[in-house]
Amino acid sequence: MQFSQKITDLAREAERALAPIFAEIDEVSYQNTNKVMDAFREHRVAATNFDTTSGYGYDDRGRDVLDRIWADVMGAEAAFVRHQIVNGTQALTIGLFGLLRPGDLMCSIAGKPYDTLEEVIGIAGEPGNGSLADFGVRYKQIDLKDDAFDFEAIAEALNAELTLGKPVKVAFIQRSKGYLNRKTLTVDEIGGAVSFIKSISPETYVVVDNCYGEFTETREPCAVGADMIIGSLIKNPGGGMAETGGYIAGNARAVELASYRLTSVGCGLEVGATIGQTKNMYKGLFYAPHTTAQALKTAHLAAYMFEALGFNVEPKWSERRSDIIQTVITGSPDLLCRFCQGIQKGSPVDSFVTPMPWAMPGYTNEVIMAAGAFTQGASIELSADGPMREPYTAFFQGGLTYESGKIGIMSAAEAMLE
Ligand SMILES: *Cc1c(COP(=O)(O)O)cnc(C)c1O
Repeated sequence: MQFSQKITDLAREAERALAPIFAEIDEVSYQNTNKVMDAFREHRVAATNFDTTSGYGYDDRGRDVLDRIWADVMGAEAAFVRHQIVNGTQALTIGLFGLLRPGDLMCSIAGKPYDTLEEVIGIAGEPGNGSLADFGVRYKQIDLKDDAFDFEAIAEALNAELTLGKPVKVAFIQRSKGYLNRKTLTVDEIGGAVSFIKSISPETYVVVDNCYGEFTETREPCAVGADMIIGSLIKNPGGGMAETGGYIAGNARAVELASYRLTSVGCGLEVGATIGQTKNMYKGLFYAPHTTAQALKTAHLAAYMFEALGFNVEPKWSERRSDIIQTVITGSPDLLCRFCQGIQKGSPVDSFVTPMPWAMPGYTNEVIMAAGAFTQGASIELSADGPMREPYTAFFQGGLTYESGKIGIMSAAEAMLE
């Protein structure tokens, strides 16, 4: 692709300013890669681990070893990672249904959870479809206060339940801002909440929606005491290699309970054929710290360039990150469309396609999306979307390689200047 002098110069200027931050990102990637490779070594990963199974998938050694590696890398006692999990929403559903029982209280302490969880919890959608609410699970939400946990309100909720004779069963934290207008929580901040919750109600399970956060820091929330973390393999931890899937990691009992919802009570993790997917998942974890670093650099570059072009961006280019999402407030429907069309044009797959806004099921406004990915819907690959409403914010993330991410960002910038 040919870029104008203005955009080429701006990208160069951005890279000069970002050099120290890029060096820090490389260091995080190095430390996480070292952690992954230590786990591979410790568990003696061999070519036979990539062998496939069919049917019940009994005694699938590659699968079982990868579970233990995943636990080590996440700083957890146990974990499972499966291609059978269709997306992050299902992984979260498995975790929540694994822990919650009729009459229990789930308390979301970082505000509204991700959109797709609303029907799972039963705060949206039709009653009778089998949501947690249908099974008598109660739900309470505590919003963040000035982008921080509202400890007073959390203590009140924990104590109220203890007065009723049982702990809040699940305290739920979404690490990433997702598509909300708030800051992403850091692992340190999550650790602070875990300690606080455990000091009042030690039996409460702290569950973290870890989507988009993996490998952006050198520790994951389990390392600071979270009981369960959950994520998708077509985001950070699949490294752009996993074809599909999800994971759950955490303390041994919590993961065991989730495993009974993954398959069935009694079967747990002893079944599940890998039908040739194991190698991609190993390779994905091997790449994940590096790939996440590429996506982070792409986000920083975009923040710098679009801010210089006069747009409001969040986070700012100089801010450290705990997820890979970047927003650009485009301010008009036309500019939002151009942004997404520019990203699409700068993608390796379907670059010739022109994305248009459309009425997606489940959304109140029309949405425009750009996704020129090898794996359908993979948002560790450069991808963008925006609801067609004020202030016409583009949410984007990913970039399998910094070089290709940079081309996508320059292409978007060029499209908006035209
Ligand atoms: C992506 C995501 C999910 C799960 O979404 P899926 O599309 O089902 O994978 C949940 N929470 C957050 C914060 C996410 O970013």
